[in-house]
Amino acid sequence: MSVAGTAEARPKWALVVHGGAGVIERADLTPEQDKAYREAMAKVATVGAEVLKRGGSALDAIEAAIRILEDDPLFNSGRGAVFTAEGRNELDSSVMDGATLKAGAVAGVTTTRHPISLARAVMEKSPHVMLMGAGADAFARTQGLEQVDPSYFFTQRRWDALEKALKEQGLPIPAKPAGVPEKADQRAELQFDEGGHRANLAQVEKKYGTVGVVALDSQGNVAAGTSTGGTTAKRWGRVGDSPIIGAGTYASNKSCAVSATGTGEYFIRLTVAREICALVEYRGLSLQAAADQVIQKELTALGGDGGIIAVAPDGQMAWSFNTSGMYRARIADGQPLTVGIYKDDP
Ligand code: ASP
Repeated sequence: MSVAGTAEARPKWALVVHGGAGVIERADLTPEQDKAYREAMAKVATVGAEVLKRGGSALDAIEAAIRILEDDPLFNSGRGAVFTAEGRNELDSSVMDGATLKAGAVAGVTTTRHPISLARAVMEKSPHVMLMGAGADAFARTQGLEQVDPSYFFTQRRWDALEKALKEQGLPIPAKPAGVPEKADQRAELQFDEGGHRANLAQVEKKYGTVGVVALDSQGNVAAGTSTGGTTAKRWGRVGDSPIIGAGTYASNKSCAVSATGTGEYFIRLTVAREICALVEYRGLSLQAAADQVIQKELTALGGDGGIIAVAPDGQMAWSFNTSGMYRARIADGQPLTVGIYKDDP
């Protein structure tokens, strides 16, 4: 499914956000859930747009927007992240600046509240591009980034999904993380609190819930950022595409900025984000055509699923996904906010 971006007016700034792609059908969400996701997408797009309207950088807009999503238990990033098979939250994030091709990424973070801010610190304050695990959290402390107890990221909803996945795989169910709060967050439980909707747990697992933002600022620079908990019941230190520059995130002022969500292994194999930008740069495809080529054709042919959001320096915006839904929103200078979930949303 794809929705053509609009480039007519050459907006001064533009921003597109996603909250994960997957099997998301109208019948799966109650009206309250539908509303909660739309409101979250709208809020985040508006916050990012405010930064850009004030003349702020694409990187500032992306970081501000993703920090909100990382705090929102509805999404699989920061608080509300999915669990590993060992019952831990291991968070991945990356960011890229299209003006300089500088990039920063972290994988397997467990105590840093906002992995997107850590990815940005890696980019701006370290000589490296990617840090992992305890070392990444240690670097976060040197940068004064907020640290939390790992139990901060816990939600019952994701724990239920973990238990289900482990049972299906015949794996043991680990103890809950120490210090998990007794009363789970109301909004985090939205998906399940309404009786019959507990039955939709299987569907919920097929929604990836990663978050990402791409932006064009009034200086003409594009940037991209992505943040995730990865996939439910991941094992052996598995890392997906989200912190891999060129796979889940890419930005270049010569072409475009992309953030992805979906079955990460396929996005890595296709270097999805870079591939889209390469089609724009070397083949001269429109942003939407490049996005569709990679998602609807290449990704689908390989057997992967998910989607991307993208923006180009000339103001083109695009999204493309081969799943039944993707939480998403876009807004640009002189263009209204558009929010969507399902394939047939505008
Ligand atoms: N792409 C992410 C990963 O494979 C998952 C997601 O998009 O939700 O880690």
